[in-house]
Parts: sequence; C-alpha cells; structure tokens
Amino acid sequence: MKKKKVVVLGAGISGLATAWKLSKNPDLEVLVIEKAETPGGWLQTDTSSGFLIEKAARTFKTSRCPELIDLALELGLKDKMIFSTHNTRYLWIKGKLVKAPSFSLLKKFMLPLLKEWSVAPHCEEETIWDFACRRFNKNVANYLFDPLVLGIYGGDLKTLSVNACFPFLKAAEKKWGSLTRAFFCEKKGKDASLFSFKGGIQTFVDTLASQSKAEFLYGEEVRALAFHADHIEVVTTKNKYLADAVFSALPSNALASIFSETHPNISALFSSIPLLTIIVVHVCYKKSVLNKRGFGYLVPSSEKEDILGVVFDSSIFEETNETRLTIMLRDSAKTEEEYKALGLAALQKHLHITSSPDFILVEKKEEAIPQYTLGHEERILLLQNRILKDLKGFHLVGNYLSGASVNQCIATAFSATAFWKSLNESC
Ligand SMILES: Cc1cc2nc3c(=O)[nH]c(=O)nc-3n(C[C@H](O)[C@H](O)[C@H](O)COP(=O)(O)OP(=O)(O)OC[C@H]3O[C@@H](n4cnc5c(N)ncnc54)[C@H](O)[C@@H]3O)c2cc1C
Repeated sequence: MKKKKVVVLGAGISGLATAWKLSKNPDLEVLVIEKAETPGGWLQTDTSSGFLIEKAARTFKTSRCPELIDLALELGLKDKMIFSTHNTRYLWIKGKLVKAPSFSLLKKFMLPLLKEWSVAPHCEEETIWDFACRRFNKNVANYLFDPLVLGIYGGDLKTLSVNACFPFLKAAEKKWGSLTRAFFCEKKGKDASLFSFKGGIQTFVDTLASQSKAEFLYGEEVRALAFHADHIEVVTTKNKYLADAVFSALPSNALASIFSETHPNISALFSSIPLLTIIVVHVCYKKSVLNKRGFGYLVPSSEKEDILGVVFDSSIFEETNETRLTIMLRDSAKTEEEYKALGLAALQKHLHITSSPDFILVEKKEEAIPQYTLGHEERILLLQNRILKDLKGFHLVGNYLSGASVNQCIATAFSATAFWKSLNESC
C-alpha cells in the first residue's frame, strides 16, 4: 500500500508533538518543514554565555502537565527530569514582597473570599476582570487576578476571556458553586512542584526531534499552500512538496500572511487573534546575590511599577551558587539600554541587588503570546469550520487555539492527530 504523505509546518513544540504522534503510524510518511535552522520554536536554551538561559518556557507545574510528563517518560528522559526545591511566589504590594498565598495576604482579602461562597454561578462568557469583580471585588481582581494574568499571558485582564484563558476557573465555579470552596475541596493531594530538565528545555526538544521518525527540513520558509482535489501543494522558499494532509503548527500571524491573497476571510480570522510582544531581560551573576528563595515575584498593574515581574531562575532548582534572574517588562518602545536600566533599577528597589551583573541580555519577544480576548472560542470555532469547509486536508495545532502552555500545545497536537486518525478510520 502506498504511504500517505503528511506535511507538518513548523517545528516548535506543537509541530514536534504532532510529528511525533503521526510518525508512529507506519502507513504515513511525515515531513516537517521549519524556517529556522533548529527545532523548538520559542523553546530554546542558550548556554553560550556560560549561564543557562531559557529563552521562553522554563518551568512546568507537575500537577498540570500530564501530556508533557508522559511524553518525557516515553522519550526515556526520567533521569533528566529535575524538580523544584523552591517555588514560593511573591507579589510586590505597597512597597513589600509578600508571599502568595500567605496568611498575611489572605487576611487582606478575607471578607470578599468568604462572601464568594454565596455568589451565584454565571454561565455566560465574561472578561477575567468582570469574573473576578463579580465573584470577589475590585481589590481581589487587582491584586490576585491581575498578577496571575501577567504571569501567564502578560496581558490585560479587562480584555481577556476567562472562559478561554482559565477554563478551569469557570469549570470550578460550575462544579462547586464557588472558587473558594473548590480551592479547599480540590487542593488536597495536588503536587505543587515544578519541573524542568537537566540542560534545560533544550534537552527535551532535542530528544523529541532526534527520536522522531519524521523527516525534518530546516531553513525553508513556507510561503503558500495550494489546495487541489486530491492533494495539497506546499510551496517553500526552496521547493514544492505534495501532501495528502497538512498539519499547520505555525503561529497565527504566519498563517494570516500565507492565506492573505488566496483566502482573505480565513486570513482575517487568523489576524483577529492579538499577539503580545514582551521584553525579557536576563541578568546573571557568578556569585549569589539573591536573599530570597522561590520562583519569583509578580507586580500587580495597579502598583504602577516598570516591570511585570522577575523569575528567580537560579533558585527554583538550586543547582549552583550563581544567580540567574529573568525580568519581564511591557513593550514600551524603549531602547535596549533603557530596558536594561529599568530592569536593574527594579532589582535594586525590590530585591536590594546593587552588584553589577556578569552577563545581561535584553530580548524583544515579538508577537510572542496569543491573547485570548472576549469571543476567542467562538472565533476559533468559526475558523475551524471555515477550514473544514474550504481547505480539505488542512489541520491546525498551535498555541493560539486553546492554551499557550507547552503542555497545552502538546495536548492540542495529540487531540488533533487523534481526531484525524478517527476521521480516516471511519472513511
Ligand atoms: C517569554 C515566554 C515565556 C514562556 N514561558 C512558559 C512557561 O514557563 N511554561 C509554559 O508552559 N509555556 C511558556 N511559554 C509559552 C510556550 O513557550 C509557547 O506557547 C510554545 O512554545 C509555543 O509553541 P508552538 O510550537 O505552538 O509555536 P512556536 O514556538 O512559535 O513554533 C512555531 C514554529 O514555526 C516556525 N515558522 C514560523 N513561520 C514559518 C513559516 N512560514 N515556514 C516554516 N516555519 C515557520 C517558527 O520558526 C517556529 O519554529 C512562554 C512563552 C514565552 C514567549
């Protein structure tokens, strides 16, 4: 029997996970096309400075990453997995770092937290801000929900959909009638630890790519897709490839541009997903300069500070005596030097660090984080339906669909390949 040809576009974690699952089927020939020279997309670990620097994702919550953990175990990475020794989180509130959660923090919000037990559930879609204000009050929205959103999406809780960004909050509200009740009933026994890999996320990415049976082409940018009755033509900067099916693991902005001339309606739906640019300043010291232990801290927007937060990279897994910190800032059209100065000033103000760093790197992560604004789920459904109708054999995976975390990218990839398999089996 002639093997079916499947092309996967993009070798970020969504593309790698898709190719991994597809290439287990001996009846398929799987080709991955990636414009960069290496796999991983945002997932890159850079050690060229002598310090281990994660360019994007760095830690994963053990209790929330079943697909990532299963995949790591399947790849034989059990001995390479490392678990957090410190994961205390802090909030910068009124001139102090306060542990979150902690008794002193909960004391500030005791009344709205208790009152929440009696607030009736509400099924309609709403922004995270409206959800938090309805169930608690503005103070809880500003000091507990806002930093949660900044830490994951970097964005504005007044525009983001709680249903799309935090479906588990809506589900807990529906199941338990109250989030505080859900917190006490569901929390028991949950593993709060974080994990990563020896050598960073690169270890996972490289193992996944090297153990995959798919063929990888690097340095080729996909420019166009042509849909024919019985095949799809993939046009890259170097060549043309024919496929029976194509899985796109490209970012939404790349797809908006690929479809702009041939399918403007579909292109417009991809463009309608806002992508947030974020500034990251990596600051490293050969010695220990941090007097706190933990994951790091976030700064609620209402504190009007220059930064979003700081991750204590060197403290989470406690391996060496050096200090590695990652400062997150909003994109505010400043120069690299200005971002450096803002980052270092924040370290001095919040953590009393005055030493000069041994290494500092400013990076602008352009259009990096998809923002699931109000109506996101509806727009994605519309997009999927248009594709099903107009682009036969074309399938979507990626971080702009139903979760931007690495685990959710893997879960989305696995369910898309399982859906495709079930479609083929029923034909
Ligand atoms: C700063 C930052 C910190 C993060 N921290 C965490 C964290 O701690 N934990 C967590 O779980 N998640 C985290 N995330 C989120 C997570 O890293 C991403 O959502 C995820 O890696 C996205 O993977 P992806 O494969 O969907 O997309 P991408 O990584 O964007 O991959 C898409 C791939 O497509 C390629 N490509 C683009 N256009 C073309 C084209 N025309 N032709 C061919 N190839 C193309 C790109 O080069 C890229 O390799 C973070 C993200 C950022 C930006």
